[in-house]
Amino acid sequence: MRLMNEVKIDKIIRSKRKTIALIVSADAMVVVRAPFRTPLRYIEKLVFQKRFWVAKKKKQALRNGVPVNAKKFVDGEEFLYLGEKYKLKIENCEDVKLADYLYFPETYLSNGQTKMIEWYRQKALEKITERVNLYNQISGWKFKSISITCANKRWGSCSPNGMLNFSWRLIMAPIAAIDYVAVHELAHIPEKNHSSRFWNKVRAIFPDYKNQRKWLRENGSSLSI
Ligand SMILES: [Zn+2]
Repeated sequence: MRLMNEVKIDKIIRSKRKTIALIVSADAMVVVRAPFRTPLRYIEKLVFQKRFWVAKKKKQALRNGVPVNAKKFVDGEEFLYLGEKYKLKIENCEDVKLADYLYFPETYLSNGQTKMIEWYRQKALEKITERVNLYNQISGWKFKSISITCANKRWGSCSPNGMLNFSWRLIMAPIAAIDYVAVHELAHIPEKNHSSRFWNKVRAIFPDYKNQRKWLRENGSSLSI
């Protein structure tokens, strides 16, 4: 069947799994995960049936381009969480789970980056809320709300009426760097500028602020997936 050749399968990964999954990776590779004994012809037929979906996904991937450090979502790949590296383990689990490894559901693989960002966002909200509350108790600076953003170049911001925003990427940084950003944004509640009065307030609550600011400048670009 000549038509079968129209869709090139880049990789077939066989395992103990019971179902077949078809994935187009961020670098536009067609990957099939299949049970050990699935005949090749069966896989080819399935991919052929899905050829329009595959073509669309490949086009999208190529258009988006492969970001620097783009994750491939393969076993052993390293992901940052609170400054520590965790190896990815793809499993038949319900949701992303952090323990000795970072367990990642096989069913999420067709949408790996989005699913991982969702998880990071949730963790960022929990951890940053905890830290902001802690420094709020120490400082007494009253904020209105906390939101998590997708900001790329801004770690945090503070609106004129005290709404605090933080990038989900911060959850990949060590806790001291998160604390610095939390205190920085809280300090904008009494001081809406970067005057020496502002920095004096930051220093009073978080004396190590200079080192953490430097850490973020030097390492911030690695906080991406
Ligand atoms: Zn600022």
